[in-house]
Amino acid sequence: MANEKLKNYKYDYDALKNKIIFITGASDGIGKALAIQSAKLGAEVIIHGRNKKRLEAVYDEIIDDPKCHKPVIAMLDYETASSETFSSLSESIMNDFKRIDGLVHCAGILGDRSSIEQYDPGLWQKVMHVNLTAPFVLTQALLPSLKLSKQPSVIFTSSGVGQVGKAFWGAYCVSKFGTEAFSQILAQELIHTTFRINCINPGAVKTKMRLAAYPAEDRDKLKSPEEVLLPYIFLLDDESIGITNKCYDAQ
Ligand code: NAP
Repeated sequence: MANEKLKNYKYDYDALKNKIIFITGASDGIGKALAIQSAKLGAEVIIHGRNKKRLEAVYDEIIDDPKCHKPVIAMLDYETASSETFSSLSESIMNDFKRIDGLVHCAGILGDRSSIEQYDPGLWQKVMHVNLTAPFVLTQALLPSLKLSKQPSVIFTSSGVGQVGKAFWGAYCVSKFGTEAFSQILAQELIHTTFRINCINPGAVKTKMRLAAYPAEDRDKLKSPEEVLLPYIFLLDDESIGITNKCYDAQ
């Protein structure tokens, strides 16, 4: 039923009007494409990342279109941010916006494509921190603002290695299993509310992460970030009200 709804879904030009959406990893790849498209569809977007120049470039691209709301930049490096940094981000969002309607997790790193035997423990910790622990802390910090939305939607970006273990995918694979578990736990805990908590596996997408994972492949055969946005927009749009605890494939 939920899959059927997505299959038949086509969005209107103002599908995300009046929505306030926080997108992590919005400086590049899928997060960047989603931030620009969400702004075009009427949302106010808060664009998160760790690189000021790249975030400012996304900001400029959004305000190039006079119909878009001005985005807000949220700079925060997942590797180094303290819990106080997350709390003050949460406070300033509460003060400036009063609520958030959507939280989309796109930030992530690949780590190393090596065997468990050879995996560097320091890199393992870094991948688990950026891909799993920091999104947990951010989600927890933003729950009060999400609770003030009538129809809050939280989206996690998983992967093809989020449900089936695969040799040489190390910490990335484990972090994506964790992401799906986290999403399911939160969905169950909030099942009696209007929260929608879901995962998306974007498939193979032409981004810098994919290039790092498969440096030798023919990149012309890959989908662009813009081509995998449909399930994200569906889950942010009120058309998906009532759909929670699902994992969608974008391709
Ligand atoms: P990407 O182009 O490399 O973008 C990753 C984003 O995460 C960038 O904005 C990056 O910021 C940000 N980021 C990385 N480390 C960070 C940190 N320490 N603090 C804050 N932000 C940080 O990758 P992508 O392919 O779009 O990936 C988006 C999501 O899709 C990821 O969760 C990934 O696991 C998932 N995914 C991708 C594919 C694929 O084929 N591309 C397939 C399956 C799943 P910078 O710009 O500063 O680097």
